[in-house]
Amino acid sequence: MSSAAKVLVINCGSSSLKFSVLPLGGDTPLLSGLAERLGLDNASITFKDEAGKTIQDLAQADHHCALKTLFAVLAEKELLASLCAIGHRVAHGGSEFKESVLLTSAVTEKIRQLATLAPLHNPANLIGIETAMQLLPALPQVAVFDTAFHQTLPPEACTYAIPLEYRDRYQIRRYGFHGTSHRFVAAEAVRQLDLDPQDHGILIAHLGNGSSLCAVRNGQSVDTSMGMTPLEGLVMGTRCGDIDFGAMAYLAKCTGQSLEELCAMANGKAGLLGLSGLSSDCRTLQEARENGDKRAALAIDVMVHRLARHLGGHMAALHRLDALIFTGGIGENSVLVRELTTDRLAIFGLRLDRDKNRTIFGGRQGRISLPDSPAILVIPTNEEKMIAQDAAAITAALRV
Ligand code: ADP
Repeated sequence: MSSAAKVLVINCGSSSLKFSVLPLGGDTPLLSGLAERLGLDNASITFKDEAGKTIQDLAQADHHCALKTLFAVLAEKELLASLCAIGHRVAHGGSEFKESVLLTSAVTEKIRQLATLAPLHNPANLIGIETAMQLLPALPQVAVFDTAFHQTLPPEACTYAIPLEYRDRYQIRRYGFHGTSHRFVAAEAVRQLDLDPQDHGILIAHLGNGSSLCAVRNGQSVDTSMGMTPLEGLVMGTRCGDIDFGAMAYLAKCTGQSLEELCAMANGKAGLLGLSGLSSDCRTLQEARENGDKRAALAIDVMVHRLARHLGGHMAALHRLDALIFTGGIGENSVLVRELTTDRLAIFGLRLDRDKNRTIFGGRQGRISLPDSPAILVIPTNEEKMIAQDAAAITAALRV
């Protein structure tokens, strides 16, 4: 195994831990995998590399055991010694973190305080951070925040129209998420289209189980569809996206459900799943739609309508439209969603090359617009690469 520097990227959830080892500057992980069912029965860890896939049971179903097992395998494969840093994905950086930072005890403490804004995600991210810091204290570790790229949103884009004292007292404002993906894709679009880094306008549709849009003007996020939490905006796998608060208040009255119950429904039982009654998975719904399932067809129509409407709205944050980029599992693979969405955007001059569109899926990238249209591109996202780059850059700066 080469001794060139590598970065371990960790994305820690409450019952899972995803990881990948990336060579500096490289796109393809040397090793990747997932520890699952942590805290539950039958926890296991799966490793994938060029030799294939192996699954090991974990002696203890916790994050400590998962990371110890991972580090033992990295040592066995002679990867551990060449790690120059660990990059951790962190969900919420609040208004404090405008970029990635070296993890210190003060930063860890701040992430803990920000858990009030992301109670499901930040505590889980912290378990990974603290365990990795305990097990490998000499290795620099870096936090990369999902919210950081959107810290450039102007006040009019990040302020909710409720009494202003709530923003000041409780930090209630729009933060936006998927920032690492949007940042990666924006930079790729500038590179691929040879745009002027100081003068461009790009719309990015990151469409996965969670989905968000970002309007990027001259390298900065100027509008995005998610808000204080990842619930706002587009119709997603199990999230409803935008909804009239009055409708929820009325539903509470009709059903006697508490705010917590309604919040759980809006996050976990709504979106494509709630509309179709079948699945949160876009591919499954496309197949059902083909077979005449009316609810699956409605779910896709509602998702596409909302998507097109938000794309039109986000355009108003740009001075010019150079490119619309599709990314994420749906954006990279769904020929249908891209076609239905761009059909609705003809008024903005966007024109899809239907034949080309049909050829781009499964990790391919390319331009799918006709020559007289602003560019429409499919660019596979690579958040791990972005996290690895940040971790390596911050670590290198420590040495000078
Ligand atoms: P996450 O937000 O969890 O990272 P992904 O970016 O992996 O999710 O996206 C998952 C979504 O991508 C699912 O709805 C899945 O159905 C959809 N998807 C994957 N492949 C296809 C495909 N060939 N056609 C349509 N949708 C697809």
